[in-house]
Amino acid sequence: MSGGLSFYMSMAAHQDAGVARTKAVDAKTQSTNTALELRTLRSQFFRTQLACEALWSLVQERLELTDEELRDRMAQLDLEDGVADGRRKHPPQSCPRCQRTFGRHWMQCLYCGEPVQGDAFA
Ligand SMILES: [Zn+2]
Repeated sequence: MSGGLSFYMSMAAHQDAGVARTKAVDAKTQSTNTALELRTLRSQFFRTQLACEALWSLVQERLELTDEELRDRMAQLDLEDGVADGRRKHPPQSCPRCQRTFGRHWMQCLYCGEPVQGDAFA
């Protein structure tokens, strides 16, 4: 191998190693950010779960409802979208004025501005 070619291959290998190091640092940063986001989401989930349990215990106490009634209502709401999958999908809402559809979390039509009811849980 000539000296020039050897030098070129050495430089190329050096550049490849630099790119690999940069990619490794980026991947580690992304992994750290994902772990942090997961920790935050878990914390928010546990807090929401605690709030649900507190609300349910108050409702149960004041209205004398049973856990079975809660489970039945959960199953009923789960099935409203046609699939018993442990979650509730909300179909889009239609604008009463222009008839276009959009997400249920909007409080006014995205197209014509008509105020709509929206859905507090969508
Ligand atoms: Zn509209």
